[in-house]
Amino acid sequence: MKKAIVLGAGGFIGSHLVKRLKSEGYWVKGVDLKLPEYSKTAADEFVQGDLRNLEFVSSVIEKNTDELYQLAADMGGAGYIFTGEHDADVMHNSAQINLNVARVCVEKNVKAVFYSSSACVYPEYNQLDPLNPKCAENTVYPAQPDSEYGWEKLFSERLYLSYKRNYGLNVKIARYHNVYGPEGAWNNGKEKAPAALCRKIAQTDNGGTIEIWGDGKQTRSFLFIDDCLDATTNLLRSVKTGPYNIGSEEMISINDFAKLIMRIADKNVHIKNIEGPEGVRGRCSDNTIILKDLNWKPIYSLEQGISHTYSWIAKQVEQMFSKA
Ligand code: NAD
Repeated sequence: MKKAIVLGAGGFIGSHLVKRLKSEGYWVKGVDLKLPEYSKTAADEFVQGDLRNLEFVSSVIEKNTDELYQLAADMGGAGYIFTGEHDADVMHNSAQINLNVARVCVEKNVKAVFYSSSACVYPEYNQLDPLNPKCAENTVYPAQPDSEYGWEKLFSERLYLSYKRNYGLNVKIARYHNVYGPEGAWNNGKEKAPAALCRKIAQTDNGGTIEIWGDGKQTRSFLFIDDCLDATTNLLRSVKTGPYNIGSEEMISINDFAKLIMRIADKNVHIKNIEGPEGVRGRCSDNTIILKDLNWKPIYSLEQGISHTYSWIAKQVEQMFSKA
């Protein structure tokens, strides 16, 4: 039986990935500071601990592991990574985890390692026009990410590639673009735009008002979790290294995204655009290279994926009010 380790298995993507690997017949170990918040982990073994600690990392990564997915990071939505209030922690914590993991994966001869980088590595100067952002993989330099979160991801991409070059680490790198779905953070300050918008709309009565950070004309694309998992496992099992964009090319403005969710919720709610952290003006995945190299493209439309997500969040909101 093949063995997989998921670091960050208590988080959103990690907890879904554990379920996916189990359904494929893998023996799976999950590692995280915390257990998944919204459902029981599917892992065969789950170890709680701090990956900033080298001895801990060495104790959880077993020799000759077939697949290791490194998803652990200190991260959150715009309210967490774009305010500047968490910069030192974000950089220190995530860099420390990656320094440990890269080294131990070589020592333990892990057969294939996946590293989750982010679209936040792309330079701000290519994302000023909301209707025409440039996010092809080779546009990342000269580097100018708009957040320390992005700078750490870029550093860690280079770290893993150095380990590949000097020590033969079989690493694969993806730059995720806004992954969303059920069982993600939705009300703890680490939620991202899709969950935050679903929550606001679920909590607001017809004719009410929701607040949206920025003028709402900023654009993004969003990738449904199932598509993300397909791309992640495909990339790890391929002969390619990346970095590759793993995202959707369906770009939408944030105000239009809110209107799409209103249609799904069958509600008519007013939008009040207010000042707040919003990140770059425009961002959209460019899938040209991953389509060519791995023949991967997303299956879910934004409407399909956000319908599943809205149902889950509306249920959480309902349960919260029934408890109150
Ligand atoms: P998440 O925050 O839900 O999961 C990250 C997990 O890492 C958390 O459960 C957290 O407890 C764990 N962690 C943090 N510090 C740790 C430590 N010191 N020791 C052990 N565990 C620790 O995030 P996610 O949305 O599941 O994202 C997974 C990865 O993908 C992250 O690296 C993130 O930066 C990257 N990514 C995600 C998105 C997205 O849209 N979700 C976009 C780009 C990149």
